[in-house]
Amino acid sequence: MNTVWILGDQLSLTNSALGAAQRQYDMILMVESRARGKVLRYHQQKLVLIYAAMRHFAAELEKAGWRVDYVPLEEGLTFESAARRHLEKFAPEKFVLAEPNSFFEADALTKLGRKLRLPVEFLPTAQFLCGREEFRRWAGASARLLMENHYRRMRSKTGFLMRDGKPVDNRWNFDSANRRTLRDWQKSGRSTPDLPRVTHDITTREVMAMVAREFPENPGKAKDFWLPVTRAAARKWLSSFLNERLTCFGDFEDIMSSEHPSLFHSILSPLLNIGLLTPSECAEAAIAAYQEKSAPLNAVEGFVRQIIGWREFINGIYWLRGPEYRELNELGAHRPLPTWFYTGEVPMNCLHQVLQQLLASGWNHHIQRLMVLGNFILLAGIRPQEALRWFSEMYVDAYDWVMAANVIGMICHADGGFMATKPYAASGAYIDRMSDYCQGCRYSPKLRTGPDACPFNYLYWHFFDQHAARFADNPRVKMSLNAWYKRSEAEKDVVRTSAAEFLAKFVPNSTL
Ligand SMILES: Cc1cc2nc3c(=O)[nH]c(=O)nc-3n(C[C@H](O)[C@H](O)[C@H](O)COP(=O)(O)OP(=O)(O)OC[C@H]3O[C@@H](n4cnc5c(N)ncnc54)[C@H](O)[C@@H]3O)c2cc1C
Ligand code: SF4
Repeated sequence: MNTVWILGDQLSLTNSALGAAQRQYDMILMVESRARGKVLRYHQQKLVLIYAAMRHFAAELEKAGWRVDYVPLEEGLTFESAARRHLEKFAPEKFVLAEPNSFFEADALTKLGRKLRLPVEFLPTAQFLCGREEFRRWAGASARLLMENHYRRMRSKTGFLMRDGKPVDNRWNFDSANRRTLRDWQKSGRSTPDLPRVTHDITTREVMAMVAREFPENPGKAKDFWLPVTRAAARKWLSSFLNERLTCFGDFEDIMSSEHPSLFHSILSPLLNIGLLTPSECAEAAIAAYQEKSAPLNAVEGFVRQIIGWREFINGIYWLRGPEYRELNELGAHRPLPTWFYTGEVPMNCLHQVLQQLLASGWNHHIQRLMVLGNFILLAGIRPQEALRWFSEMYVDAYDWVMAANVIGMICHADGGFMATKPYAASGAYIDRMSDYCQGCRYSPKLRTGPDACPFNYLYWHFFDQHAARFADNPRVKMSLNAWYKRSEAEKDVVRTSAAEFLAKFVPNSTL
């Protein structure tokens, strides 16, 4: 008899360890490790999502005839204590798992197996379409990786949106068509549909109460939990995206609204990342919508690119570069993360709105993460590892594999440009164009310096001033650098002073 150990982010019937097991002989083990839940101060709603989804998944497995040893959260419980109890009771020959999604978990379980003198076997995960070894082979020894190249290879491999070996419509990428502004959306008269309301059953309600009781100091409120926790509910959630939001997904992918946080986004990452949905079924469902002419190609291609392009690329980099990647800090950013990142109490309205939405729900869409929070973290010179910890704590869809490249590589440019050809830096004009935040802000995106100027405006130039030498040869940054060089010394000094005053007040050197 073997034991299939299913971790909290592997809740899928396509779990490879489950696929290799035999219902009549093998056991399932699932553990709500208290120690694991306390590694960071996770958003309460993320803990609800995982524990509630685990309990429902265990119940589904039992209903399907599996024998499940489910260990609920209790004082002092660790993976080791739960595993020891399981061994005493059931004496399996080995533990079998789908490859864990983080190297820390893989390492901890391997060591645990050695300690318990029990073999631990990992089977290739089915949660991604590109295997770890396959990505490594593709990446080779390249000094830089381009997502677009990986995406095209994945299109050819999966056959998604391909015809006779060529991309549908002879075009790989519709990104340039997907940059419409907030004003475009307002003029379009397209309303944003409400997200489906999820009714919580008694199991989920019990978990909500447990998380509020056991993790009272964590950010967010368990009682406001809003996501589906079963496979059936996740399928309905996917359908509502396909039927109500996919059509406009491409056009308005980059806009941000104070009133409508989710806009036309799918909000599938929390479900994909724990296995309730698979990447191929999401991509295939969107492609079917295109084939049935219920969604345009720019929207469907944009969505498929996120799923088989970005998601797989980010995971590939995680396994390619290993734990050391998390420690990179090529730009030497050293400031601590300000405490107001946990409260949203800051006069910059864009940050205030995005942080308030995050505290309330544990979720922001991509551009809020990248161009508001990430942009600020980059320009203010916040230490990448502090940002990494904070993102890992605050988001319902956060896992180590997805955080490393998004935070270290994409927003902090701390890997020296390994995965992004230029830093994602923008001034207030971008946020003004894409959102309604500036209208309610005490700062003006039109002013460049001084007490009423948008801080992004001078922080942007201050960033290039500080890193001019590093980016001197980067053709994608050249225009910004040339504009900076053309300014008089007096103008440059005003920028430097404005930035220094702002940073001293809002990002002091020791706040945490
Ligand atoms: C700083 C930063 C932190 C992020 N943290 C996370 C995180 O913790 N968990 C997470 O799943 N995604 C993360 N992302 C990626 C992306 O922002 C989220 O996947 C997306 O906002 C989730 O909302 P959605 O499901 O509505 O996405 P949609 O906009 O509807 O996109 C569809 C899907 O594409 C995938 N996807 C798109 N971009 C990425 C990406 N860069 N990395 C991985 N998957 C991607 C996701 O699975 C997502 O569900 C982060 C991005 C940045 C810049
Ligand atoms: S003016 Fe600047 S700080 Fe204020 S909301 Fe706009 S971009 Fe943000």
